Amino acid sequence: MYSATVRRQALDLINHGTSLRSVSRSIGVNRTALREWRDHLEKAQATRSDCPRCGDERTLPEPRADYAYLLGLYLGDGCISAGGDPAKGVWKLRVICADAWPGLIQECVRAMQAVRPLNKVMLQQKQGCQEVSSYSRHWPCLFPQHGPGKKHLRRIELQPWQRAIVAEFPGEFVRGLFHSDGYRGVNRVRRVLADGDHWYAYPRYLFSNKSKDILGLCGQALDRLGIEWRFARPDVISVAKKRAVARLDEFVGPKY
Ligand SMILES: [Zn+2]
Repeated sequence: MYSATVRRQALDLINHGTSLRSVSRSIGVNRTALREWRDHLEKAQATRSDCPRCGDERTLPEPRADYAYLLGLYLGDGCISAGGDPAKGVWKLRVICADAWPGLIQECVRAMQAVRPLNKVMLQQKQGCQEVSSYSRHWPCLFPQHGPGKKHLRRIELQPWQRAIVAEFPGEFVRGLFHSDGYRGVNRVRRVLADGDHWYAYPRYLFSNKSKDILGLCGQALDRLGIEWRFARPDVISVAKKRAVARLDEFVGPKY
């Protein structure tokens, strides 16, 4: 019998490409045992790898509607970073949700869990907000927009398979974007007329993001939904026409 430590040490060496013969020589475990450990590990990994994007048969992440929503949240305000030791290849997806909107925290948790059902979703209280996170080896497979540096400083482009999902579920995608980086509020405008000042108030949606690419993706999805929009500022999309606001209310709604 070999100890668990010896076994782990051996597997680490094998994973790093060391030959069974060298491993056997350096830690004194016979090759038959090493081969069995290696083959078992491969089998275990094969059944554990449930990633739709890096397996032999590439499929779309499911449920696609939840993926579209999570993609919106990720592009709006999420980030992927190494989860612990980068050599282990485990990644952490994080979305920050304000305490003020408990409903959105629940939706974020639900979508993250639905897309990676075998990975635990965690909540961590931060000042005024909750960090919703989950560890997986496959977040970069699912969100290939991941890369070094801030999103607005690099090119953000959807892969063809992501475009297909967004085309199928544009409402869910827009909902994710508005839930992370957007806002539905009341805009008040003053009109000065002959008989004095008049104030008008109307609801509108704003989506602000520093990335021109992400603003572009939001605009395209709104176009696909037939919802009128314009730039209120170079980094803010505004949906303010009555009919357009009513359409967004159907599937985005105020934060809650
Ligand atoms: Zn993968």
